[in-house]
Amino acid sequence: MEKLFSILEQHYDEMVSIRRYLHENPELSFEEVNTPAYIAAYHEKLGHEVRTNVGERGVVATLRGGKRGKTVALRADFDALAIHELNDIPYKSKVDGVMHACGHDGHTATLLVLAKVLHSMKDEIEGNIVFIHQHAEEIAPGGAIAMIEDGCLEGVDVIFGTHLWSTEPLGNIMLKSGPLMAAADSFEVKVIGKGGHGAEPHLTKDAIVIGAQFVSNLQQLVSRRVNPIHPAVVSVGHFEALNPFNVIADTAFLKGTVRTFDEEVRDLLEVELEHVLKASCTLMDASYEYVYKRGYPAVINHEEETDFLIEVAADVTGVEEVRICDPMMGGEDFAYYLQHVKGAFFFTGARNPEWEEVYPHHHPRFNIDERALLIAANTLGAATLHFLNNK
Ligand code: MN
Repeated sequence: MEKLFSILEQHYDEMVSIRRYLHENPELSFEEVNTPAYIAAYHEKLGHEVRTNVGERGVVATLRGGKRGKTVALRADFDALAIHELNDIPYKSKVDGVMHACGHDGHTATLLVLAKVLHSMKDEIEGNIVFIHQHAEEIAPGGAIAMIEDGCLEGVDVIFGTHLWSTEPLGNIMLKSGPLMAAADSFEVKVIGKGGHGAEPHLTKDAIVIGAQFVSNLQQLVSRRVNPIHPAVVSVGHFEALNPFNVIADTAFLKGTVRTFDEEVRDLLEVELEHVLKASCTLMDASYEYVYKRGYPAVINHEEETDFLIEVAADVTGVEEVRICDPMMGGEDFAYYLQHVKGAFFFTGARNPEWEEVYPHHHPRFNIDERALLIAANTLGAATLHFLNNK
C-alpha cells in the first residue's frame, strides 16, 4: 500500500486543483452538463472504457487490471446546491446562487485522481475497477436509482463510497455496520378551511388554527406512537397562510420531513401523519389534501464489508482514528447501491483543526480541509487493492 499512498501524495496538488475548478463551476442537480463532460474527458484521456449519460447524466468508467479478478465499484457524486456562496476564497463559486456546499467537488476530485493513480498501477491489479460518477445526489429521486437501472452495477462485486464531513476532525474515518444514514421522506399538506373576516371567526373554519393544531399534535407521533428503540424525526419546515392581518385564512400549506431507519416505522409514520391531520381537521369540520413522498431509503452498511473497511482504514496514511460513529439522520442515495450489491459507506473527517468557525454541510460558508481528499483517496484506494489482490 505504501506505493499507492506515495503516488497519491505526489498527485495531491492535482486533486486540489480539480476540486477548486469544480468548486468555481458548480452545477445543480439534474442540470449537470459540463461536470459530467469534464469527468468523461478525464477518464477517456486515461484510456478507460467510458459510458456517458448513464441514468441520464452519470458517467461510468472502467479500469481493467492486468490480471483477471473481481470487480470493485467506487462512487462519487458531483452535483451542487442552490446556495449562494459567502466564502471569501480565491476559488469561490462563479455561479450566482449555486455552490458546492456539500463537498461533492471534493468527492469527484478524489475519485478522478485515484483513477489516474490506480491506472498507473494497473498491471499489478487483479480485477476491474468501476468508477461511478453520479449526478443529482441532493434531490430525490436522485441519480443513483437511474444509474443502477441503466446498468452501472453490472458485474460489480462490492461498492465503496465516502462523504467528506466538515464538522469532524481531519484524520478521522467514521462508519458503522447496519443503519448509517436515515430514510429521508417528505410530506405536503393543504388544510382546507373557510376564510372570512377577522372580526367574525364564528362564520369561518380558521386554517391557521387547524394547521397549528396539526403541527402541535404531530409532536406526539414520535413520542407516543413510535417504539422508542427506533429513532425517528418529524419536522415541519414550511407553514404558509398569507393573508392581511384582519383576514381569517381559508387555506394553509405545510411541508415537512420524516427521517427513519426502520421500514416499519417509516410505514407507520406515513399512515399516522394522515391520522393526525384528519383528526385536527375533523375537530373544526375542515378538510385536507395530503401527499407523502418517499425519498431515499436508509443507508444500511453490510457487516462484512464494514469490518473489512475498518481493518483497512487503520493502516492508511493520514488516518489517525477509525471511529464507530452514531447513525446520522441525514439522507444519501448511496442507499440504493447497497440494496443491490454488498458494500459500505464511510465519512472522512474534513475539519481543519485551526479554523475557529466550522460550518455544517449546506451552509453558505461551508468548506473543507482539502487534505481530507488525500485521506479519502488513500482509504478508497487501499480498500480497492486489498479487496482485489488479497482475496
Ligand atoms: Mn452530500
